This record gives sequence, structure tokens and C-alpha cells, in this order.
Amino acid sequence: MKAAAVALSLALLLVMAALPVAAPGSSAAAEPSAERVYELVDTISDWYRYLDTPGHHAAEAFIAETMEGYGLEVYRQEFTVNQGGQQLDAVNVVGYYEGKDPNTWLVLGGHYDATISSDSGAYDNAVGTATVLELARYFTQEVETQPEISLVFGAWDSEEEGGQGSQLFVESAGGNATVLANLNFDMFGLSYPIPNRASLSPLCDEDYFKLYLYTSPVEDFSGYADYEYDNQTRANFSMLRKTLEQVAYDELALPPEWVLAVDDTETNSDQRSFIRAGIPAIWFRGMHEYAWEEGDACEQTFKHFSTDRLESLELIAGSHANLLAGFQTGLDIASGLVTELAYGDPAAPVASEDGNGVARTVLALLVIAVAVAGVAVLARWRQGRQASP
Ligand SMILES: [Zn+2]
Repeated sequence: MKAAAVALSLALLLVMAALPVAAPGSSAAAEPSAERVYELVDTISDWYRYLDTPGHHAAEAFIAETMEGYGLEVYRQEFTVNQGGQQLDAVNVVGYYEGKDPNTWLVLGGHYDATISSDSGAYDNAVGTATVLELARYFTQEVETQPEISLVFGAWDSEEEGGQGSQLFVESAGGNATVLANLNFDMFGLSYPIPNRASLSPLCDEDYFKLYLYTSPVEDFSGYADYEYDNQTRANFSMLRKTLEQVAYDELALPPEWVLAVDDTETNSDQRSFIRAGIPAIWFRGMHEYAWEEGDACEQTFKHFSTDRLESLELIAGSHANLLAGFQTGLDIASGLVTELAYGDPAAPVASEDGNGVARTVLALLVIAVAVAGVAVLARWRQGRQASP
């Protein structure tokens, strides 16, 4: 009888041991969704978003509502942009997700304004805005742990007129918080593993669209020659680069040939506002590097053209599935980086571990209860058998 109870307990312990345990630092949550990014691009690129137009205001309201829906504290930073003597209203939409440290921020951003000639600005930059919103949803809705530091999701305005929105944000953030790093999404998604069909031409030797990860400089400071960086700042730049390489190449095993971490030298998106201020940053830029360079047979860029539409992205990617795969590469790198940078030492236990701990405790109690009940039943059964003739 005792042996039976012990066997029962052992069997249940085995069941318990077989329960999946989340990897330390990871979460049991699903990945950020490329399909959701696609749907958001579809919505946002429907609006003509040149500064201070009805579509621009509609996009701003949609972004704010979406962020509020995820429980973010939403702030609007209003400013005006002088365009040929005309004062145009501009506004950054900033969603704040408080971590254990409210004054250290990891900022994920992308601009939502579009040039005057972009009818829908799907690639430049509904995709970046959509990516920021999807990462906001993922970390607030799917990941149960509170981050160690705070996550700030920024939809910048007036990038196309010189990165004014992100510049304003960096200036105003300085008084309130330390910005640990910035991840910038602009013209993003046409990237590895999407085949570059221009490679069918003998003039282009790129098999895939590349994902460029332009980082705050580590070796080549030529793009920031006008700025002085002290040793600590340079060390911070190097640290972000190392973390990026660890996530992209070690954890995700992405090919460095097609997913390139390189110094930001001559680019001009919103990460510049951060890097100029000495804040480590990465620009996620999918596609081909040198737009319209002479002799370039690989470029298929349509930025700032009316053809910058979601249908064009799908056409260039070759299929809907290809486009989603391109989005997913960047989403995985971004979520890996946020996990590393904002959720503390990856070796430390996080919420999913806590959840599992509770499950294990409940199961351990169940095992004891079942074992006790088993002993009682067996005892009665034996008594019953002894009593019968
Ligand atoms: Zn852009």
C-alpha cells in the first residue's frame, strides 16, 4: 500500500518535471506579429500625412488611441514647423510604459509624417510607425513582467523636414530622464530573407534585401565629425553594438552578410537626434543602402514617391508571406534587444518564471493531496477485503 502511494507520487512528480519551463529571461508570450504590422500599415498608409493635413491629424489621433488602448500614458508634444513662411502644426505622440525605474528610458520610435509628394508613405514611414505600435502591444499585452526600466514609444512628427520631432523629444527628455538607447524604425521591412529580384540582372549581386542596422558609431565617426564624445559615451555606443550583435548573430543566428550591423555614417533619420546627443541608437533600415547611386542596379526604392504604397511593398517582396518574413526579422531583433536592455540580466528570472513557480506549487500540493487520498483509498480497500469472507 505504501509502495503504491509512493509510486503514485513519483508518477505525478514525473508529470511535474515534464512541465515546460520558460527559458530564463525569455517569456512564454508569442512573438510580435508581422501580420499585425501589416494591418497597421494598411490603416496608417490610407491617410495622406503631410504636416497639418486632415490625414496627418487622423493618423495622430489613431496612434494616440492605439497607445491608450494598450494602457500607455500618452503625451502629445506640440510644435510648429515653418514651411515657406507658413506655420504648420506638428505633434509627437509619445506613449510611456513605466518600468521599475521610471527615470531610465528605452525609446522605440519612428516618424509618422510623410513628404508632400507621398500619397500614402507606406514604406516611409507607415511601416516604422506600425512597428512601434506592435512592439508597444507586445510588451504591454503579451509580456507580463514589468520591465526594469521604462519603455517609451514615440511616433515622431516632421522627420521629413529635418528630424524636428525627435530632436524636440531628445531636448525635453534630458530634464526628466536618462535615455539608455533609441531604436529607430524608418523604411523597414523589405529585408532578409526576402529575395532581391534585382539580382536576376547580372548587374546586381545581392540575393536578398538587406537589413541595415545603423548603429551609433563604434569605429567610423565620420558621420558625426562635428560632435565630441567622451569615453563613457563611446563605451555606451560599443555596448549597444555588442548587445545587438549578440541578439542578431548569436541568439537569432541571422547571417551577417544580409543583416548588417554597421556604423551610422551618412544617414539621416531620427536616430541622428539621439546620437548627436550622445545617446546610443540603432536605425532599422530594410532594403538597399545606396539609393540612386550611379551604377546601382540593386536599388528599387520609391521613397517620397506616390508609388510608395503597401501594394508596391508586396509586389517588390514577391508575396505577402515574403513581406511578413521581412518584417519578422526586424521584429525579432527589436524584441530581443528590448528584452536584453529593459528586462535586466537575461539570466535573472522574469514573470514567466514566476507564473511557472505558481503552477509548480499548485501541482506539488495536488500531488500531496492525491497521495494522501490514495493512501486512504488503499487503506479502506484493504480493510474492506480483510472484512469480506
Ligand atoms: Zn522616413
